[in-house]
Amino acid sequence: MAATSETDVVVIGAGISGVVTAKCLLDVGLKVKVLERTGEVGGLWTFRDKVGYGVMRCTHINVSKHNYCFSDFPFPDDVPDYPHHSHMAKYITDYVMHFGINNVISFQTQVNKIERKDDKWVVTATRVEDDGKGGWSTGEEEVYVAKCRKVYLSTRSGAWVLPNYVFGRPTDHYACRTFLWLPWKLATNVLETVVTLIHGSPYRWGLNPKMRALQTQPTVSPTLIHNIQRNNVTIKPNITRFEGSTVHFTDGSSAVVDHVVMCTGFRVSLPFLPDDVKEKVLEEGSNSIKLYKNVFCPDVGSSLAFIGFVQPASGGILSMSETQARWFAELCLNHVKLPNRAAMEADIRDDEERTAKRYFASARHTIQKDPLLYNDSIAAQFGAKPQIWRHPRLAWRLLLGSCGAAQWRLQGPGRWDRAAEVVRSVPVTEFILYSAILVLVLLLLLLTYLGYVVSRLA
Ligand SMILES: Cc1cc2nc3c(=O)[nH]c(=O)nc-3n(C[C@H](O)[C@H](O)[C@H](O)COP(=O)(O)OP(=O)(O)OC[C@H]3O[C@@H](n4cnc5c(N)ncnc54)[C@H](O)[C@@H]3O)c2cc1C
Repeated sequence: MAATSETDVVVIGAGISGVVTAKCLLDVGLKVKVLERTGEVGGLWTFRDKVGYGVMRCTHINVSKHNYCFSDFPFPDDVPDYPHHSHMAKYITDYVMHFGINNVISFQTQVNKIERKDDKWVVTATRVEDDGKGGWSTGEEEVYVAKCRKVYLSTRSGAWVLPNYVFGRPTDHYACRTFLWLPWKLATNVLETVVTLIHGSPYRWGLNPKMRALQTQPTVSPTLIHNIQRNNVTIKPNITRFEGSTVHFTDGSSAVVDHVVMCTGFRVSLPFLPDDVKEKVLEEGSNSIKLYKNVFCPDVGSSLAFIGFVQPASGGILSMSETQARWFAELCLNHVKLPNRAAMEADIRDDEERTAKRYFASARHTIQKDPLLYNDSIAAQFGAKPQIWRHPRLAWRLLLGSCGAAQWRLQGPGRWDRAAEVVRSVPVTEFILYSAILVLVLLLLLLTYLGYVVSRLA
């Protein structure tokens, strides 16, 4: 007979979303069990030599450590701005050990089914030997690609490629409130101009983006343009067909290749969810999810939370998962409440319309959100949105800087004493700062001039 145990909350998965959810629930005194099918924490940030899931040997994160971190656990100073996956794995393990999350994780436990019985959720899991036994070797694939004399990069929609650093600062540091509050068409003009000044036009390198820079997920790479310039990488349009080892492209050209690497995106999948819930949450065959603020199904309410179902447009998912988890914890304690079902459904419809207007129509943009604005909207649900007038000494940073994850610990439940100090450690970019000063000076000059004209007319 299967063993049965009761707990307040079951968390499925011990990737960053799972461990931060467990931590936020433990923080408020709830009993938590985390079920993880592999033998480690970290999800895809744990390098696995023999399994086709996770990072490659050479993967670095492409969001800086200030904006891809837990809000009350900054990275050590000696970790580079863009951590290697081994730094990420160590950081996640350190977090888990520091907050005692390891005590509530059951490893090699795969969830197969969840069902609602009366007012409870019953979660059925089995012990598994290993994750993805017999998968292909990530290491080998990498060696082949690294040895290639020539790479063809086939892209259907093209891309805007952003450098890791803009004017000496990590690119995600530019995603501040002032920039994100600008009308997106104005902001996209600014971004495209800066990228073009740094790299040259994307059309010159064959990247041919079919959309504006802020209508899509930016591709952040310090080396892609460099390799195109050296002819190591040739950009090709969409593939029409394969004939043996020959690949034919839509422009009539073809290439003979040894290996094909599919970088064709992700598909949202919820295999363990009951069918009646799944059909309400996920639109079959698309990546479109119907969740209130990307977390709650209006039909089910706050007993089932989807943490990490967001695609960050200008930063990292980690702080988004954490803010969602803190909101969920407050809901579990009945400190806050969800709106009624009709209001949640209306909000989902409005959000779909906004997303359709703003982003290029594609399955990869269905859950796209700007982390800073999204976190503000979620943190506002439980009183943790940083209110600028309550932090006058940090106000200019909160307006002109990306400020890092600690900004959502400045106030509200779970407030952290060191939050202001950590916010101050995230640099504000000189470009945004001087642009803001210039705009203020121009406004002052304009006002002075208008005052002069009015005084002459009077
Ligand atoms: C190569 C790569 C680079 C990336 N770089 C970035 C980046 O720079 N910035 C960014 O924001 N995002 C990046 N991402 C996106 C990435 O998905 C997130 O950053 C983040 O790691 C997601 O964490 P997660 O916990 O939600 O999911 P995961 O890390 O996928 O963790 C899910 C966990 O759940 C477990 N699990 C799944 N199903 C079950 C089950 N049925 N039962 C029990 N356990 C289960 C898995 O074993 C896993 O441990 C990248 C993704 C990839 C693939």
